[in-house]
Amino acid sequence: MTKKIDRFLAERRPATPCLVMDLDVVADNYRKLRRAVPRASIYYAVKANPAPEILKLLAKAGSSFDTASINEIDMVLATGASADRISFGNTIKKKTDIAAAYGRGVKLYAFDSEAELGKISDAAPGSRVFCRILTSGANADWPLSRKFGCDVEMARKLLIEAAKRDVVPYGVSFHVGSQQRDPNQWDAAVAQAAWLFRECEQAGVQLSMLNIGGGFPTRYRKTVPGMSSYGAAIDESLSRHFGNRIPDIIVEPGRQMVGSAGVIQTEVVLISKKADNDTKRWVYLDIGKFGGLAETMDEAIQYPIVSARDGAVAPVVLAGPTCDSADILYEKADYRLPESLEIGDKLEIRSTGAYTTTYASVAFNGFEPLKCYCV
Ligand SMILES: *Cc1c(COP(=O)(O)O)cnc(C)c1O
Repeated sequence: MTKKIDRFLAERRPATPCLVMDLDVVADNYRKLRRAVPRASIYYAVKANPAPEILKLLAKAGSSFDTASINEIDMVLATGASADRISFGNTIKKKTDIAAAYGRGVKLYAFDSEAELGKISDAAPGSRVFCRILTSGANADWPLSRKFGCDVEMARKLLIEAAKRDVVPYGVSFHVGSQQRDPNQWDAAVAQAAWLFRECEQAGVQLSMLNIGGGFPTRYRKTVPGMSSYGAAIDESLSRHFGNRIPDIIVEPGRQMVGSAGVIQTEVVLISKKADNDTKRWVYLDIGKFGGLAETMDEAIQYPIVSARDGAVAPVVLAGPTCDSADILYEKADYRLPESLEIGDKLEIRSTGAYTTTYASVAFNGFEPLKCYCV
């Protein structure tokens, strides 16, 4: 919670639920990442929070952008950033969207299959392409493995094949899983990438870029290593596997950039028990899984939740307001709130700047999508 957010909530008294972002924290997170990985070009993953004020701030700070759709590309272009600062990083794109991106000047594309490579060389001739490889996603609270990337042997064939098509084989990418708590998880993927660089070189294909993805964490209920630990581990790994021929490095932070900058204010709608001898109170909020807190799925991301009341606390089950039984936020994760908590109380859900507004449904049960204020 920052002074600016506190003041905004006290003075403006916006309707709940709402997300309030402190832009100074975003700027600070950008500087922290800049310092931790000085050799890398930063491509902010727009999906984490595409608020125009945030995109504008990052564009001004010098960031580039990782996008997944034409709408995200247009949001970036609306900041005045040029198309050469945009990567179309989704490995699953319609050919019509690739053509539309190309028409806007985007010349950097991800792929992880032969079919996708074919679409890019048809619809975006002359562009740079990079191949995403699989990672285990171990030690990540929100893994992205399995769905994205291909194995290194396939990547080798595809990158060599790319050289024969109307595209430029530029490099390799991976993502070690979001909210990655272990700085050493980059090492195995960097080693695989270095192997690919060598194999391609032997086949006469010179790669020059390594995209080490996102995954850098935000502090939620548990502490996480600082950005400098990630920077040091990555730097060491790059030197070990690439020696004095370290390629151009791209990072694609999402959560790290905006997570800690946001607070959701929510209202307690109902406090009840399921039986007289129920040991836990059920606390229903005006926001749930469908209102922006999708990452509470399997209780994977555990946001700090704070009440202004003090005194003794007792265990609660936290749930959202919709008519879907999946809309339970935390049942096993041992959340406790003051015994004095009352219906109508406001609660703060902290570190909610990433992956909340973008995950909110449009009108499930008639509830509006999560509003975002930038201060
Ligand atoms: C979502 C995503 C990111 C951002 O991941 P974080 O864990 O939020 O840093 C980066 N790159 C790609 C390709 C993504 O899909």
